Amino acid sequence: MRILLIGPPGTGKGTQASLIQKKMGIPHISSGDMLREAVNKKTSLGKQADRYMSQGSLVPDDLVIEIIIDRISQPDAREGFLLDGFPRTVPQAQALDKALKQSKLEIDHVLQIFVPDEQIIIRATGRLIDPLTNKIYHKKFKPPPVEIADRVIQRNDDTEETLKKRLAKFHADTGPILKYYDGIDLLYKIPGMGKPEEVESRIYKEIGISS
Ligand code: AMP
Repeated sequence: MRILLIGPPGTGKGTQASLIQKKMGIPHISSGDMLREAVNKKTSLGKQADRYMSQGSLVPDDLVIEIIIDRISQPDAREGFLLDGFPRTVPQAQALDKALKQSKLEIDHVLQIFVPDEQIIIRATGRLIDPLTNKIYHKKFKPPPVEIADRVIQRNDDTEETLKKRLAKFHADTGPILKYYDGIDLLYKIPGMGKPEEVESRIYKEIGISS
């Protein structure tokens, strides 16, 4: 099954992605994670992407399209994948369609997770990540266990200022994408409030999978 997860930063997309990955056994492919890895490794892509990411802007389409199309062509993604954070623009959506069509494949579901912006800011500015396991915690709502408290980090783009910019950018860029997928009847709108398991159940109910 090929699923796209769409939602601004801080909607719990990452958490849902891990849960769905576990249940359905398909790889979770996050464009943000792949780009951050490239930045950390200081690859040529990473160096180019860093400039945009640290300002909360989108990385140019051609750079992101290339790494994602390459990633979904890997053997582990043959039976399906969960794409998180891609596509973010209509040219990215079109490039994805084109690549899938060439392999006679298609997207099954597009899941839009929505949470009010004010709530997103509260969630994301307290977000902590364990760099070893990529597990996500929160300063207030889900503090990390004591034994890993020293190693958890905050993403440098999780500040209120950068977030407001990313949210405005997300809404501007994603409006057309949502219309695009709604127009081809693939879009499901999932409220992202509540406990992770509640959101997860809503997803399975919408896409007709027993939870
Ligand atoms: P995320 O982890 O999805 O919030 O992404 C973090 C940052 O990576 C974004 O603010 C963008 O700078 C960049 N990024 C991730 N995915 C994309 C994409 N599909 N297109 C362009 N830039 C992206």
